Amino acid sequence: MHGLNQDYPLTLSTVLEHAAVNFADVPVVSFSHGEETRTDYRSTAARARRLACALSAEGLGADGFVGSLAWNTHRHLELFYGVSGIGAALHTANPRLAPEHIAYTINFSAYRTLFIDPDTVALTERILPELQHVERFVVMAARDRMPATALPNVICYEDLIDAGDEAFAWPVLDERTACALCFTSGTTGVPKGALYSHRGTVLSALSTGGGNAWALSADDAILALPGFFHCNGWGIPFFGPMYGAKLVMPGRRMDTEFLHGLIVDEGITVGPAVPTIWMDMLEHGHRTGLGFGRLNRLFTGGTAPPAKMIEAYWHDHDVRTHHAWGMTETTHGATFSFTSRYAGGDEAIAAMRTQGKPAYGNEIRIVDDESRPLPRDGKTPGHLQSRGHWIAGAYFRRPEVDVQSADGWMTTGDVAVIDPDNTLHIVDRAKDVIKSGGEWISSPAMEEAACRHPAVQEAAVLAVPHPRWQERPMLVAVLRTNATITADELREHLAGLIPKWWLPEAIAFVPELPHGPTGKVQKDMLRQWLRDGKIAA
Ligand code: AMP
Repeated sequence: MHGLNQDYPLTLSTVLEHAAVNFADVPVVSFSHGEETRTDYRSTAARARRLACALSAEGLGADGFVGSLAWNTHRHLELFYGVSGIGAALHTANPRLAPEHIAYTINFSAYRTLFIDPDTVALTERILPELQHVERFVVMAARDRMPATALPNVICYEDLIDAGDEAFAWPVLDERTACALCFTSGTTGVPKGALYSHRGTVLSALSTGGGNAWALSADDAILALPGFFHCNGWGIPFFGPMYGAKLVMPGRRMDTEFLHGLIVDEGITVGPAVPTIWMDMLEHGHRTGLGFGRLNRLFTGGTAPPAKMIEAYWHDHDVRTHHAWGMTETTHGATFSFTSRYAGGDEAIAAMRTQGKPAYGNEIRIVDDESRPLPRDGKTPGHLQSRGHWIAGAYFRRPEVDVQSADGWMTTGDVAVIDPDNTLHIVDRAKDVIKSGGEWISSPAMEEAACRHPAVQEAAVLAVPHPRWQERPMLVAVLRTNATITADELREHLAGLIPKWWLPEAIAFVPELPHGPTGKVQKDMLRQWLRDGKIAA
């Protein structure tokens, strides 16, 4: 027997319309390449409807795709809704990936329209020769701020939405329809796509925006720092409007002074960012004596934050740290540390250091190498798995890659211990990737680039701990017989092939790398060499 509730689909247009009706005047603030825009949810919804109308008049609809290569701005926010609201999906390409990976992810989805902003025009020009399907570039800028560019078929976003009607009625969609696509950088090879549905996105936003996680309300103002291309900005474009929070989007600008100014001037209450940003901000706050205004909690994740940072925010500024764990495949944050508002002392600090507990809708477990569940005893480490209403069940157009176990759990590649009360502690990473300042550095890509130098026979890249960036890459290379090259020369060679910020500070040359039975370099052994001082970072 079915219940008799209305069968009203969980779609993103309902989220934006809820905000437009109930939180119409709540500010939506955006900075983009010197353009400052102050708008609200009423206007955001109206402009998203105009965009949806214009795009559907062009024939975009069910099963369609468009892409964005852009920073967080009000137009990018509108794009999520305008595109998904007509049954198409938005691929938010990550401008921080290696250029060939950006081009790969854009080509993989085979769409014809790419939305860019003035700060990604140069990058787009650079990858243009690699783009196989894109025919049109929509620049998200005001008409009088359109940048000069060599790109073909460029139009202004404002001209596009001008063609649309703000009275556009959202079509009724199946809630399982795809709404957005984000790519993860895997352990080896090319990035893999997580294709999110309306249902998963709405449910995840509902749960993770609520108590024991983001605990949002219309009293909050969120500084939207996580890129919309990272787990769709950790969910901010969705639970922000859903809970009526003010949104402040800084565009590309990530300099501490500017961001700190926003926190104070815009009355930010919730600050989400990777630990590096919070550590810089702390230092800046202490040096300038500016304080943190209304900021009362910060969300951090992507990598574990240092205890010192958590303590300083709490003791000196009364700001609590909520530490979240999540990955592209979990849609938004999946687990959140929390302490009672009244808890204090070392116990509360210790709780903030853990990865916390799952928000409703996501379950976690650890298993051994044979996929047998392990005890939640606070000491046994195992492979972390997750399942739930919005956890990835497959990768986009990659049926050959298993994302989940035979019994329906998604394997995360993280190694964890779980307490009897289900608190998660990430203890290691099974995947050979480096996370520096919250962004992935792909070791296979750098190894491949190093081996392109005629003097290099083999190369391995491993993560070394770093006080500011959490991890930095170290390159260990074997040279060909009689070949010579200095670390600086190798770095110079790499500079043309990989993003600048990937360049390894530490490079070691060894006569031979340790290999396992299948011929794979044993990175565990390299890490041991590092600990033993056999190689130095
Ligand atoms: P991504 O798919 O790029 O979002 O990266 C997800 C991965 O980042 C996870 O599988 C972890 O390895 C790492 N990660 C995310 N959050 C945390 C955290 N709070 N502590 C430690 N590692 C984390």
